[in-house]
Amino acid sequence: MERPGKIVCVGRNYREHAKELGNEVPAEPLLFFKPPSCVIANGAPIELPADAGRVDFEGEVAVVIGAKLTKASEAQCAAAVRGIVAANDVSAREWQKNDGQWARAKGTDTFLPLGEESRKPHDLAALTLVTRVNGVERQRATTADLVFPIPTLLSFISRYITLYPNDLVLTGTPAGVGPLAANDVVEVEIVGHSQVRSPVVALS
Ligand code: ZN
Repeated sequence: MERPGKIVCVGRNYREHAKELGNEVPAEPLLFFKPPSCVIANGAPIELPADAGRVDFEGEVAVVIGAKLTKASEAQCAAAVRGIVAANDVSAREWQKNDGQWARAKGTDTFLPLGEESRKPHDLAALTLVTRVNGVERQRATTADLVFPIPTLLSFISRYITLYPNDLVLTGTPAGVGPLAANDVVEVEIVGHSQVRSPVVALS
């Protein structure tokens, strides 16, 4: 997709993923940002920084906002979703743990591969997400399993942060995350809508 406006993300929005990293499911959505500068297109490489340690893939359903949303209801939010995008919320775990803020862990250049935006009709509660590394399936989930469903999540965000057309919201990753290594190829697919494929390179 074209470079999005702001990018709002949510952590720990699938029960099994929260558990696999030793975390509880939060009582309210745990929000963070990724900067637009970390976006790369389908086919472009994810670059592993030499000093990052473990860097994980996180396949996610992302939604593109099509209307201004301020303190909006769930119904208004659902109606304002313009498109569906496959996203990979690449995450450097040691920085995420040690930095206090997640800016570097989540916002390093190339840490957000995005597929093309699908504007086909969609059911926000029945999107299927599949992640493969080197052709092997590593994550499979449906948005029916989200702790905070997409309209709930968007409504929560809009209570505090106005969403504008072309903003992007990442809805969290399911269980199955794992580290990337040089020469891997990681693919995230939102079945019937969007996919993004990224080779992985190590920076020296
Ligand atoms: Zn994520």
